[in-house]
Amino acid sequence: MSLLERSMRTAILRAADDCRVRHVVRRYGMRAGAARFVAGENVESFLEAARQANRRGFAVACGYLGERVTTATEARAACERYCGLLHTFAAESIDANVAFKPTHLGLDIDPELSYALAREVARAASDTGNTMRLDMEQSECVDATLEIYRRLRVEFDCVGFALQSYLFRTAADLERSLPLSPNVRLVKGAYLEPPDRAFQRKRDVDDNYLALAATALSHPGYTAIATHDPAIVERVLQTIEAQQLPKRGRFEFQMLYGIGTDLAERLRDRGYRVRLAIPFGDYWFPYLMRRLAERPANVAFFLKGLIAGG
Ligand SMILES: Cc1cc2nc3c(=O)[nH]c(=O)nc-3n(C[C@H](O)[C@H](O)[C@H](O)COP(=O)(O)OP(=O)(O)OC[C@H]3O[C@@H](n4cnc5c(N)ncnc54)[C@H](O)[C@@H]3O)c2cc1C
Repeated sequence: MSLLERSMRTAILRAADDCRVRHVVRRYGMRAGAARFVAGENVESFLEAARQANRRGFAVACGYLGERVTTATEARAACERYCGLLHTFAAESIDANVAFKPTHLGLDIDPELSYALAREVARAASDTGNTMRLDMEQSECVDATLEIYRRLRVEFDCVGFALQSYLFRTAADLERSLPLSPNVRLVKGAYLEPPDRAFQRKRDVDDNYLALAATALSHPGYTAIATHDPAIVERVLQTIEAQQLPKRGRFEFQMLYGIGTDLAERLRDRGYRVRLAIPFGDYWFPYLMRRLAERPANVAFFLKGLIAGG
């Protein structure tokens, strides 16, 4: 990532906290381009996108958009939504699990509330023979998120979490989780993190990603390689082949809805399990801003849509 792209990334992620930007983007944004990254605002549009993804040979991770809720009522509503979705997937034979942010289940209000609600989702996943995963948010949330994961893992096999290769601490976090045979999703990291906590150069983030993947894949557990980066995918495939891992059962690839479609199809055609993370819901603004920040070229495409639609 060039210096200009890095500055744009910072500016976009800062703008995500500006209420005027939020107002304009929320008003026109879905028509202008958010629909490229989000299945829709209601559950029906998600279910349709999930069925379509299944028909194309992809598993799905359902993301009901929401984060940093400020009331226990909102957190409980999100929990009920996730439990309901898991029962719908079982009833309709949809190959989808759920992934959610601990702050959607009230982590900022009370970590104990978030744990209790995450436990309800884990129970629903276990009862329906499915899995659930905790997303990883800003670095301030990492300790509490890992603590929720560890507590759930004592009780359930069906729980997973995510780790970000841009954080200095992640290698140690992964190492500590290895005795649990973890189900871990590896990502690069989507938030603005300071230089005393996170690698700032893409090359360092990528090198750390490869090291983490090699460690996770060489220990018992399940690894989700969540990236659209073809160079990383190719290097991980070399590790997988060197370790003679079976094509299914120990790892999968994951990509976000609307991104990396060609790469996802190529991996699927080679017989690998690929899961598309499909988000839905009306709280899509912060999710959209992170997708724009990852690839500043998306901003031009999005602004064109805003001008045409506005
Ligand atoms: C399934 C999944 C789950 C995730 N969960 C989390 C999480 O829990 N916590 C977290 O912090 N982050 C999460 N992320 C986001 C992740 O941290 C990165 O921000 C994101 O994946 C972009 O990084 P990359 O690995 O694709 O590599 P990059 O080096 O950023 O991109 C590689 C290539 O992918 C394509 N690409 C990447 N992003 C975009 C985009 N927005 N639009 C168009 N093309 C793009 C481009 O061609 C780019 O050259 C998740 C990502 C995935 C795929």
